Amino acid sequence: MSAYQAPLKDMRFVLNKLAGLGEVAKLPGYQEATPDVVDAILEEASKFASEVLDPLNYSGDQEGSKFSAGDVRTPKGFRDAYRKFCEGGWNALPFEHEWGGQGLPKLVSTPVQEMWKSSNLSFSLCPLLTQGAIEALLLRGAEPLKQAYLPSMVAGKWTGTMNLTEPQAGSDLSLVKTRAERSGDHYLISGQKIFITYGEHDLAENIVHLVLARTPDAPEGVKGISLFIVPKFIPNKDGTPGKRNSATCASIEHKLGIHASPTAVMVYDKALGYLVGEENRGLEYMFVMMNAARFAVGLEGVAIAERAFQRALAFARERVQGRDLVGGGGAVPIIRHPDVRRMLMLMKSQAEAMRALAYTTAAAMDFALKTKSKAHQAFVDLMIPVVKGWCTETGIEIASLGVQVHGGMGFVEETGAAQYLRDARITTIYEGTTGIQAMDLVGRKIAREGGATAKEWIAQLKKLDGELAGHPEIRKGLAEGVKALEDCIAFIVGAKDPRVQFAGAVPFLKLMGIVAGGWQMARAALAAAQGTGDDSFDKAKITTARFYADHVLVQAPGLRNTVVSGAAGVMALSEDQFLAA
Ligand SMILES: Cc1cc2nc3c(=O)[nH]c(=O)nc-3n(C[C@H](O)[C@H](O)[C@H](O)COP(=O)(O)OP(=O)(O)OC[C@H]3O[C@@H](n4cnc5c(N)ncnc54)[C@H](O)[C@@H]3O)c2cc1C
Repeated sequence: MSAYQAPLKDMRFVLNKLAGLGEVAKLPGYQEATPDVVDAILEEASKFASEVLDPLNYSGDQEGSKFSAGDVRTPKGFRDAYRKFCEGGWNALPFEHEWGGQGLPKLVSTPVQEMWKSSNLSFSLCPLLTQGAIEALLLRGAEPLKQAYLPSMVAGKWTGTMNLTEPQAGSDLSLVKTRAERSGDHYLISGQKIFITYGEHDLAENIVHLVLARTPDAPEGVKGISLFIVPKFIPNKDGTPGKRNSATCASIEHKLGIHASPTAVMVYDKALGYLVGEENRGLEYMFVMMNAARFAVGLEGVAIAERAFQRALAFARERVQGRDLVGGGGAVPIIRHPDVRRMLMLMKSQAEAMRALAYTTAAAMDFALKTKSKAHQAFVDLMIPVVKGWCTETGIEIASLGVQVHGGMGFVEETGAAQYLRDARITTIYEGTTGIQAMDLVGRKIAREGGATAKEWIAQLKKLDGELAGHPEIRKGLAEGVKALEDCIAFIVGAKDPRVQFAGAVPFLKLMGIVAGGWQMARAALAAAQGTGDDSFDKAKITTARFYADHVLVQAPGLRNTVVSGAAGVMALSEDQFLAA
């Protein structure tokens, strides 16, 4: 099985030529992100990913996490890897100096996180969830809570979880039932949460659960949900883990993929909890954090696409089958066949397009945070559902193409190709399904503001038109994509019936993703045409951008038609007619 190698050349190209690392490093507090420092971080992260995390990916999948009498044992090697991860300071990378972090921009932590996700998605989920819990505390935690929890969580000694889902409350969190009764300076939390990632495990000395629950007098629906910290061990005054709290793991799920990541059913039985922020504002806080969490899952799509591509490429160079179409001779490696090339190019070009869009969005998040610029924030808000929805859906398609490149060997487990597809499958479900992302995009981000931010973004795309004169196919593809977007936005903004708007929401999200990816590939082709000092890379980038235009961007007019006239078929049948023979 081929080892993961971080695509450092492409990462650096995107950071410097497309996402504007130089400008981000000028923002207050980010001066340490000099080119040398960033290079060193990427090199070290790439070694950790290849040497420590990647070797545990397949074995972790085969062994899985195991549940026994309330405890969970992660697969062999995970504990040691997690210890090294924390000792290396990787857990602290994205956080402020004040709490022991390294205070680096999102744009720098993004490629590093891509490497963790590519090399071992299951492992990467533990620090990801800790990050979410830390952000919640930073956002609204009272000072004593921050002091008690943040240093250990930033260091990775304690990990975090996010407890939203209950059996009856998945996409619709207004249905959350877990109760929180006031008891002096704290609350007693009771209820059941399901699907809690790393809800129980043996990697760290304490687990800090962030739990959504209702106080007895809370209003119905989303306006009555509060956010609580519920530690597995209640911290002592000296910061060590103390008394065991009644927050227990009842079981873990048997899943299609991410076998090494324990997905827990958690039972809270009058567990001691502490309010984060104010009562009844829990969901509002979660919404503030949602951009970061959704972005992180979108990046999982990029990462798994990259890993599946690398695996397929290695296989295609080794597997000998069929003769060359020209030149005769004996059987050749399958990479010589046009159809295998086509699949590999689909994988490569879309992985690169997604990476560029994700990193550019990360840079905008840095600008929005540091400059409080409304324009940057609006762009981030517009792109988050696209990064989440499009990158994860495409990640699955690419992982599936990876299986196809392997032929029968892709369908059996030894090559690892099947694992990427199984692991990728969850990414379009958790942190809001693609349907939920698409409704957010169409409803909140487009219709509600009459398409204003989307139109400003489209104006940027149009400005590229003249510059693309030397790349006619890319120019044409992007122009058609822009036209398709404009038609759809006018349709969405003008639609009177929300069912008509939402019937085409997922195809519209796909269209946005494809065109946003085309925008990035067009910028990449222009940057490569100027020369980066690496001729072979530049030529490959221009060719890849052209391929993307010919094979991916061309889907735009069809998707436009689906959005604009496809609603009729979506809602037409009665529920009984679905079953009619
Ligand atoms: C492996 C794994 C890990 C997870 N980790 C966590 C975690 O750490 N913490 C946590 O709190 N949760 C976690 N989850 C839960 C996850 O976030 C939910 O599964 C997800 O939000 C979807 O909810 P649901 O499964 O109840 O599906 P449902 O909400 O029942 O959705 C079913 C289908 O209906 C569609 N749908 C639902 N409502 C609408 C609507 N209004 N309009 C259109 N379509 C709709 C959905 O798009 C989907 O296709 C995890 C789940 C899994 C499987």
